[in-house]
Amino acid sequence: MDNYLYKCQYCGKEFRPNRRNKQKFCSNSCRVGAFNLKKEKGLGLPVNEVEKKAPLKVEKMSFAGVGNAAVGTLAVNAITSLFTKEEDKVATKGDMKDLLANLKQRYQPVKNLANRPDGTKPFFDSHTQTIVYLTKSF
Ligand SMILES: [Zn+2]
Repeated sequence: MDNYLYKCQYCGKEFRPNRRNKQKFCSNSCRVGAFNLKKEKGLGLPVNEVEKKAPLKVEKMSFAGVGNAAVGTLAVNAITSLFTKEEDKVATKGDMKDLLANLKQRYQPVKNLANRPDGTKPFFDSHTQTIVYLTKSF
C-alpha cells in the first residue's frame, strides 16, 4: 500500500505518503501554498472543496465545521422567527375563528336544563347527540 509514490500537486516532487489517506502534497507548506495560491487567484472554492483542502485536521474542525454549524443555526433561527412572526399571528386569528365557528355549530345551548353547581352550562353536542356541560358558551 505504501510502496508507490505520490506526486506533489504543488511542487511536483515525488513523495511517499506517510498516512493511509490520500495525500496530494509532499508537505504541509506545499499544501498551504497550493491553498493560498488558489485563494490569490480568486478561485472561490465551494465549502466542501475548502473542507477537503483544509491543511490541518484541527483547522478543518474549527473552521469549516463550526462555520457550517453556525450557518445552519442561523438559517434555522431565521426560518423559525419568520414563522413565529408571520404565520403565528395569522394562523391564530384564522384558526381561532374557525374553531369557534365549529364549536358554535357543534354545541347548541340547551335552555330547559339548569346549569350545574360547578357553573358549567348544558349544551347539545350535535356530533355525539348527547348533552354535555361546558364552562363556556359560544
Ligand atoms: Zn511539494
